[in-house]
Amino acid sequence: MILRILHYGDATLRAKGKPIENIDDGIRELAANMIETMHAAHGVGLAAQQIGEPLQLTVLDVSAVEERPSMLKLDGTDLDPKTAMPLVLINPEIELHGETEVGVEGCLSFPEITGDIERAQSLEGGTIHIESSGFLARAIQHECDHLNGILFIDRMRSAAKVALSSRLRRLQKETRRGTGIRPEEERPLVSETTL
Ligand code: ZN
Repeated sequence: MILRILHYGDATLRAKGKPIENIDDGIRELAANMIETMHAAHGVGLAAQQIGEPLQLTVLDVSAVEERPSMLKLDGTDLDPKTAMPLVLINPEIELHGETEVGVEGCLSFPEITGDIERAQSLEGGTIHIESSGFLARAIQHECDHLNGILFIDRMRSAAKVALSSRLRRLQKETRRGTGIRPEEERPLVSETTL
């Protein structure tokens, strides 16, 4: 089932996700619906906050991203990231490593807005130990931010955010009035970067 994606201006996007205690059928169904919704929106990541459920749950699928390489290790073994997609992360805890790198990102909650965001180049985390670098590391950081109510605009350089301020104010107003772009009207702009 395709779920409605909330846009900037909706208070749920600022909510910290509750940890998931039991992975029951309800959570499995929610994750499956989130994957379907992410694919339908041509996004590469979607956090539970974005569909109105403040939980520590996010889904990712970077398999269609050709130009920005991703690396993934599962319990110490190198893995072709494509074979691990879609990825469902529940209660993720990540540790950031390496230098930071600036790269363009979009977000399904900010239609048609992109920005350069500085992120760590690699990370580690999980009960199942994963290590990742490249674009997947960036995408996981973007989604884990959502789970804590942090949005990519919070990490934009202030000049970029100032340049976007009137568009952001307009989006926030449209969301609050319910007059914004409906999800079915959204066209993927830079789908490879929309998380
Ligand atoms: Zn996002």
